[in-house]
Amino acid sequence: MEMEKEHRSSHPRLVLVALPFQGHINPMLQLGSILHSKGFSITVLHTAFNSPIPSNYPEFGFLSIPDNLSEQLISADDLLPFISLLNLNCGVPFQECLAKMVQKQEVENEPSIACSVYDECMYFCDAVAKCVKLPSIVLRTTSASTYLSRNAILQLKAEGVLTSQGSTSQDLVPGLHPLRFKDLPVSKIGTPEIFLQFITNIYKTRTSSAIIWNTNDVLEKPSLQEIQKQCQVGIFPVCPLHEVAPASSSSLIKEDNSCITWLEKQKQNTVLYVSLGSVASVDKKELGETAWGLANSKQPFLWVIRPGSIDDQEWKKLLTEGFVEAVGENGCIVKWAPQKEVLAHGAVGGFWTHCGWNSTLESISKGVPMICKPCFGDQRVNARHVSQVWRIGIQLENMCERGEVERAIKRLMVDKEGKEMRQRAKNLKERFQLDIREGGSSYNYLNKLIELIMSF
Ligand code: UDP
Repeated sequence: MEMEKEHRSSHPRLVLVALPFQGHINPMLQLGSILHSKGFSITVLHTAFNSPIPSNYPEFGFLSIPDNLSEQLISADDLLPFISLLNLNCGVPFQECLAKMVQKQEVENEPSIACSVYDECMYFCDAVAKCVKLPSIVLRTTSASTYLSRNAILQLKAEGVLTSQGSTSQDLVPGLHPLRFKDLPVSKIGTPEIFLQFITNIYKTRTSSAIIWNTNDVLEKPSLQEIQKQCQVGIFPVCPLHEVAPASSSSLIKEDNSCITWLEKQKQNTVLYVSLGSVASVDKKELGETAWGLANSKQPFLWVIRPGSIDDQEWKKLLTEGFVEAVGENGCIVKWAPQKEVLAHGAVGGFWTHCGWNSTLESISKGVPMICKPCFGDQRVNARHVSQVWRIGIQLENMCERGEVERAIKRLMVDKEGKEMRQRAKNLKERFQLDIREGGSSYNYLNKLIELIMSF
């Protein structure tokens, strides 16, 4: 166990445990920043795998726990077995680490630990916190609708309506409007047993005292109310965490800021920002069709091509076909972008996204409409809400030919339909801003959450 940084303060300490993936590290560290700004000391317990960068958060303490995992790129196909392994490997070192911290606080008069806050996927933390008699709180980093749809899968499976492989049916799922059976986040990854076990593990009612949720009443009030009725403990929807938190970066990959210089040269609302987040990848055929669809649209674009997310041979083929020359100054390609800054830039008028929950929230909070190209899991649920409920985006289904890509870009960036979506996105952005100000629901829930933690 390595003490990377020590932090002393008279305020109670909170121990945070994120799932070590970008889409989970971001909201957890943002939550840490918010709670730190309210006077709490923060210690982040993290795995060596995908370790956060402590120097980005000099005000936090960081402790690394051995995870027995090799550094490797984890693709979507490996996610569930990997999470299961993490939970198996991390329990004992986490318990030892917490016990040492408690001992140290007694001997050295350190600030006492008020509670641990853990990502729902790091469910081993619950039993450990209980064992060392520490209250714990869960952080949910996906939408409330995802929670309801995952629970519906368990139910439909038990009733024999849904097979383990999911469904391609366009029919609406009863009680889950506007989700169709094909939108349910059924995983084809690993064995069906692993998937069902995963849902059971992350949603099993345990001993935690509360649930913090990175969503809000503006987007999901009816779903949140329904969940609260079924839930034994208080739910605290505080969202978007990245807007409430003081700005700082928790990127695991170095952000390429040259794209901001490129954006400066583009006209207002003209650029399509294209990114599929930190895990999803593009298959061979899709890469070529997307690239030529973008080029043929003649719309300026900023494209994030994360290392490992595309097929290198296919990319080389695109280059020999003259893709870069065809695009010229009209396109900017980077390996990783400062996404929140990009979405806040006036030149960006649309976001081609996989609809990860963070990307969805980041886009809404900047009033940017979307082209949704979900890849797996909860992304389909989010995409359906973006296009059908909030009506701030277009969803592309299945594999798209370059002509369809070009048409979708025109619909969003040029046509009247897109302008109306942009207006609705801007209205939602304003409601988000009101929600985190005094009197807003996220503002009030955050205050109630702090009262709860102080009562431990
Ligand atoms: N992100 C970023 N730069 C990029 C692409 C993504 O900073 O070039 C960030 C993005 O702002 C978001 C996170 O990575 O906070 C991705 O999380 P999300 O839930 O959208 O998707 P995931 O990566 O979990 O699939």
